[in-house]
Amino acid sequence: MSRQHNIQRAITELFDVVVIGGGITGAGIALTAARKGWKTLIIDKHDFAFGTSSRSAKMIHGGLRYLQNLQIKLVKEALHEREHLLKEYPHLVKPQPFFMPIYKSRLSKIKLGIGLSGYDYLTGESSMPKHAEIDLEEVKQRFPQLKTDAMVGGFVYYDAKTNDARLTNEVIQEACDLGAIALNYFELTTLQKGNNKIKSITCEDKIAEKSFTIKSKVFIAATGIWTDEILRKFDSNDTKKYMMPSKGVHLIVSANHFPKDCVMLLPTANGDGRMIWCMPWDDNLNVIGTTDTDYNEGNDEIFILENEVKYILDSVNAQLKEKKLTEDDILSVYAGIRPLLNDNDENKKSNQRSRDYQIWWNNDNMLTISGGKLTSFLSMAENCIKTIEEKHAIQSTDNDEIIINTLIDNFKHRYGVKNATLIANIAQEELELTQQFTGYEYCPAEIIFFIRYQNGQKLDDILTRRTLISYQMKDFDEDLVKTVSEIMAKELNWSAEQITIEINLYKHSWKLMHSWK
Ligand SMILES: Cc1cc2nc3c(=O)[nH]c(=O)nc-3n(C[C@H](O)[C@H](O)[C@H](O)COP(=O)(O)OP(=O)(O)OC[C@H]3O[C@@H](n4cnc5c(N)ncnc54)[C@H](O)[C@@H]3O)c2cc1C
Repeated sequence: MSRQHNIQRAITELFDVVVIGGGITGAGIALTAARKGWKTLIIDKHDFAFGTSSRSAKMIHGGLRYLQNLQIKLVKEALHEREHLLKEYPHLVKPQPFFMPIYKSRLSKIKLGIGLSGYDYLTGESSMPKHAEIDLEEVKQRFPQLKTDAMVGGFVYYDAKTNDARLTNEVIQEACDLGAIALNYFELTTLQKGNNKIKSITCEDKIAEKSFTIKSKVFIAATGIWTDEILRKFDSNDTKKYMMPSKGVHLIVSANHFPKDCVMLLPTANGDGRMIWCMPWDDNLNVIGTTDTDYNEGNDEIFILENEVKYILDSVNAQLKEKKLTEDDILSVYAGIRPLLNDNDENKKSNQRSRDYQIWWNNDNMLTISGGKLTSFLSMAENCIKTIEEKHAIQSTDNDEIIINTLIDNFKHRYGVKNATLIANIAQEELELTQQFTGYEYCPAEIIFFIRYQNGQKLDDILTRRTLISYQMKDFDEDLVKTVSEIMAKELNWSAEQITIEINLYKHSWKLMHSWK
């Protein structure tokens, strides 16, 4: 769909929800709303993922560190989300081992061990291994760069890593596949209010330099560190500081400097009790991070200071035996601003502030969500949509759209979104086509899909190579084979005689699979 076409729709249609902010938070909300069949628009004043969502540490994690602050609920939710994302986006969210040294006089082995056991416990069932201890010999072998004089061994545990910007853009693409409209370089400039509601918003198309009015039943501000700025537009008399952001700088170096299979977690050099990590990333890069300092400057252009780079370099170098990193080794640097909620505690260090999020109504139809983590974007989105449902009875204007989206959701885990859409379209012809066969997790719409799109010609093609039904069928299931043959007969114009021939042919193949008896 062209940008022009999308803008035309954006200014002429009444939306169920307009999401302001196309970072991971807004992307997750747009996807969840589109899955519900809601008419959804998502806009961003920059590119999608321009903000914090392309400048994170790239970890999909529970946040082992937050256990120290007893943020158990937050960690548990994020660990649950981590498992979900590993399954849902396996090409973008990948398991990643982490190495944590055990020092003679630093954090004791017992304390670390308890923390990691708690982390494993909160994870529950996982596709990744639980933490394990390694001895000093193995540490020396696997991490030959590290000084080990003060070490007694180490722990290896698992979390996951991602490409945050690509994840955000893929989630927005998925929302658009389900009917949402996405416009980047489209800035909310003013809001028109009346009767405790937002009547419309004015947006500037920053590419064509034109202004447009957009209408929606509900508006959601998911603008991260820009939350205060948006809420001033909402109410210029509101002087409350909703956010207390903190800055995190990362260095990018070649992956060749460090082990390519494991993150190294190392204590910082200045004794502030924090850890620095060197994480192998994509395209032979290694991400080293990070700093955590209060931030009160501009959000659209973030400068990186010499002392921030030095803090990271010094910390890594303090742990390296030889071949220290120099400024020359740095390929690039980036800084992200954490959208931390203001807890009105000026004395707290930024790394002690909660990474939790909040959702609140500004009036009858404007909702703000802020805070949180990349890892938790789907559960944040679900809570946001639930909050809307408690107040507004949004019915999709197009009932067919809801049905089709639900069907896509059901099939996409097995077939991916593209083929799930084809199957959902087939199911639209007659809803009985989604009725599962007794004893098997397949339905007629899938059989028709295999015939129409994947060259299924014979019963054996469908039952053995397109589905796994033959493998499940311990005893020959006359009823099931007859039902499937009738579906095939309709699609392939088989006569009654042909059906009998095809069933007999299949029976022969099935018998071969049981020929040892
Ligand atoms: C250094 C650092 C490391 C981190 N590491 C991790 C990690 O490893 N794992 C993890 O889970 N989380 C991590 N986080 C947290 C995570 O990155 C953030 O919680 C998340 O990216 C925030 O996403 P967001 O969508 O809320 O905000 P953003 O990504 O900032 O999106 C907000 C969007 O709103 C848009 N916007 C603002 N004003 C307007 C307007 N007027 N009109 C239209 N659009 C507007 C902006 O352009 C922006 O794109 C880290 C954060 C930082 C800073």
